[in-house]
Amino acid sequence: MNVAMFTARAEPAPSPADPLDHLADVLFHEMGSPGVYGRTALYEDIVERLALLITRHREADTEVMRFPPVMNRAQLERSGYLKSFPNLLGCVCGLHGTESEIDAAVSRFDAGGDWTVSLSPADLVLSPAACYPVYPIAASRGPVPAGGWRFDVGAECFRREPSRHLDRLQSFRMREFVCIGSPEHVSAFRERWIVRAQEIARDLGLTFTVDYASDPFFGRVGQMMAVSQKQQSLKFELLVPLRSEERPTACMSFNYHRDHFGTAWGIVDEAGEPAHTACVAFGMDRLAVAMFHTHGKNVARWPAAVRDLLGFPPRSDR
Ligand code: AMP
Ligand code: ZN
Repeated sequence: MNVAMFTARAEPAPSPADPLDHLADVLFHEMGSPGVYGRTALYEDIVERLALLITRHREADTEVMRFPPVMNRAQLERSGYLKSFPNLLGCVCGLHGTESEIDAAVSRFDAGGDWTVSLSPADLVLSPAACYPVYPIAASRGPVPAGGWRFDVGAECFRREPSRHLDRLQSFRMREFVCIGSPEHVSAFRERWIVRAQEIARDLGLTFTVDYASDPFFGRVGQMMAVSQKQQSLKFELLVPLRSEERPTACMSFNYHRDHFGTAWGIVDEAGEPAHTACVAFGMDRLAVAMFHTHGKNVARWPAAVRDLLGFPPRSDR
């Protein structure tokens, strides 16, 4: 053996600690896959309080819907997801064969083999964002009235982007307000939320910036889509510097889809023109991680104004 090679390969360099790693023990339980975590009571309490805070800011005449973590595959296909983010999609698969085919798959596993080659896709995918299921529901209701429609939606979402970073999960909660209506209506809705969301972030004591953004569209064509999205200011993000100022983390996004979903689903106004849509998305897990990173692990020591906003009783030692 070549001695020089041997010494060079002896010890892999330890990966540098991430600035959020110190939170892992108090917020999460490992579940064997990166970005998929059990949540501690401490963490979950803050997620719930943030959710209530967002509810308090909900506009009047907004219809509430909560969606399961899965949605119809054909609906997501029709929404154009495969054109934009095929790499992020998780699809539900099952053993759909006859009893003997399923037995054979299980026997292969028992013998140390691969049972997963017998899987076939179901009619379900894991929802990659909370708002996708609302568009076909809206489309089924007939023309959009002059005042438009507003929805408050939420779902546990999945994106196949495994990472050890606590602010990049594969399974995470998303809350969204969605507006469907005329371009003026929808643009005004987004503008209002860009202002309101900054007030919420400020009240929560978070340091942030709001900036133009683009989605991580897949491939080379996707890069062009991202440039065009930015040029047209279709996406803004509220960014919190969790691990560095240079690469801040998007905790909320403000998205104008123009007539994309209106056309895909035949959502039309009373004159038959495709409706425009926008959504405001709150990454509930990112917001909670941001709160602990900013204010510390001891919630009793968080600033009184922040505790008050989140509905904690006043501390007795004040
Ligand atoms: P997007 O549709 O990409 O704008 O996502 C909406 C919001 O969901 C983002 O602003 C984040 O707060 C949150 N989010 C997106 N991807 C992830 C992820 N991998 N882990 C945790 N939160 C995420
Ligand atoms: Zn959305």
